[in-house]
Amino acid sequence: QITVGVLALQGGVIEHISLLQKAAAQLSSQQSTESSSTSTPQFTFIQVRTTAQLSQCDALIIPGGESTTMAIVARRLGLLDPLREFVKVQHKPTWGTCAGLVMLASAASATKQGGQELIGGLDVKVLRNRYGTQIQSFVGDLRLPFLEEEKPFRGVFIRAPVVEEIMTSGSSASGNTQDGSEAGQGGDEIAKLKERQRTEKVEVLGTYPKPQGTGEGEDIVAVRQGNVFGTSFHPELTDDVRIHVWWLKQVVERLR
Ligand code: GLN
Repeated sequence: QITVGVLALQGGVIEHISLLQKAAAQLSSQQSTESSSTSTPQFTFIQVRTTAQLSQCDALIIPGGESTTMAIVARRLGLLDPLREFVKVQHKPTWGTCAGLVMLASAASATKQGGQELIGGLDVKVLRNRYGTQIQSFVGDLRLPFLEEEKPFRGVFIRAPVVEEIMTSGSSASGNTQDGSEAGQGGDEIAKLKERQRTEKVEVLGTYPKPQGTGEGEDIVAVRQGNVFGTSFHPELTDDVRIHVWWLKQVVERLR
């Protein structure tokens, strides 16, 4: 029995839950056709708005939406430090999509006055709103090597961030805040002390060509570091369950 939460302060919550349900159904039907001895566990999916709900979760999705708003609401509800603990001390599997990726980064740029609070967990710096405003939203075909199938994944990019820098050990801001505007929070200090030394490195799991006029090469749009996974785009806004299926399998593996 595995409980997967979706942080439900703001953003695309229902969409994730419905795709998770489809993904779980697919996993259990795969399971019934394979005659392997390791059984797929039962999943329960819940919305998370309180620390009590968070503590029931074995894994968590942080949806898209607006990361500054999400951080403000999380702080007010007393969820920010428990979320940091969940990701960085308990090392539970956590996936952030779009604004969720911003929340899981150590640092964010293109952020207004005074920075914004982050959860951290990925030793990366993200560039917010990489592709411009809402009307510049687009759907792009992604080749994601971790999905064994050839068929490209239709990536929905809405005011999407990209990973602009992978931090090497020692340069990470540990995901407290963009500008250090929250120094001296007791809970953070404790969390930092308890933070285990990271041995896992940031892996790039997906890239997308840079927009015209912004240089050569590809932007990083999917990363994983140990228990933490982040995507710039919104798989929950498609009916393609492949990434949700893949992630649920990762969750099962990590909790085994
Ligand atoms: N631009 C938003 C942010 O920085 C993310 C947008 C989204 O999640 N679709 O938080």
